[in-house]
Amino acid sequence: MGGTAALIVAGGRGTRVGGPVPKQYRTLGGKAILRRAIEAFAARPDIAAVQVVIGEDDHSRYSEIAAGLNLLPPVAGGDTRQHSVLHGLQALTAHRPDSVLIHDAARPLVSQALIGRVIAALKDCEAAVPLLPVADTLKKKKTDGRWETVPRDGLHRAQTPQGFHFEPIVDAHRKFAGKNMTDDMALAEAYGLTIAAVAGEDSNLKITTEEDFRLAEKLLGGGEVRTGMGFDAHRFAAGDHVWLCGVKIAHAQGLEGHSDADAGLHALTDALLGAIGAGDIGMHFPPMDAKWRGAQSSVFLEYAARLVREMRGAIVNCDVTLICERPKIAPHVPAMRARIAEILGIDPARVSVKATTTEGMGFTGRGEGIAAQAIATVTLP
Ligand code: MG
Repeated sequence: MGGTAALIVAGGRGTRVGGPVPKQYRTLGGKAILRRAIEAFAARPDIAAVQVVIGEDDHSRYSEIAAGLNLLPPVAGGDTRQHSVLHGLQALTAHRPDSVLIHDAARPLVSQALIGRVIAALKDCEAAVPLLPVADTLKKKKTDGRWETVPRDGLHRAQTPQGFHFEPIVDAHRKFAGKNMTDDMALAEAYGLTIAAVAGEDSNLKITTEEDFRLAEKLLGGGEVRTGMGFDAHRFAAGDHVWLCGVKIAHAQGLEGHSDADAGLHALTDALLGAIGAGDIGMHFPPMDAKWRGAQSSVFLEYAARLVREMRGAIVNCDVTLICERPKIAPHVPAMRARIAEILGIDPARVSVKATTTEGMGFTGRGEGIAAQAIATVTLP
């Protein structure tokens, strides 16, 4: 096989007796914690194979959460984390990887950048470990019950994935199989491997308590969901084209307005401003301001999208309905979706544009003008 293998350690039993499922099988943001950890590695082209070590009794749970992923068959863990890692390494021996990243399933939020740093550092060292400096002041309770402050200079917190050249870490695990070491770096230290430190990440937290679980959900962006709506109408006037949803359409008439009179983009701009409670388009771009005469309405929509981003928000989706008898909208819908997606900086799959007539009724039915409705959904942290 060669290349780099990932070894995910998920053998922990947690508080099983009479309790809920082991934590690595709990759902975090709609997905099992273990599946999140696996997917972080399985999706990478520079990871040749993923080996998961699971608890003896977890086979059915595991097949459920790992469905559809291309993984090596799981192996059963041992009594301790160290034994579980050894079992996983032994299973990988048959595939002869050059290096292995050993990762705790309880760290489902590991970033692609962090995995990349570990892999890169293995070019020059036999081991690579993400470390974070200790920021809190450390206190130790002495045997007499009094407290003392421990100097934190040089102290670091170790995370996973910890990366190793394959042969030496297998050898280290066999050599120290009787000892109980808390992480694989400890074995690498004892074995005398060269170790590179790479920057860890606070978001790569290890989920051990309920508080960790809630924090992880927050980090996943379990923020607030907001919606906003917008409506706009413009009157037909002399002309030979109309602008609708950012697309120029040849037509026997034009639309009257201070800007390019794009009712679709105006309604959508108001929907986005509405979702974040930021007023309306007229407030930000007063029609009496000569500066906006003939302006491209993409400017207004870009502005609203920027306000969302400045609030660290994200646009989930938007939906625009154009209301008119003519021009025919359907042939232009793909171009409109693409243009709106481009202006907002989101995937076209998140943009919907549709049209309706009013069966000849009302001002749109009489062909006096074009109206548009829009709704937008935004998440805020
Ligand atoms: Mg308007």
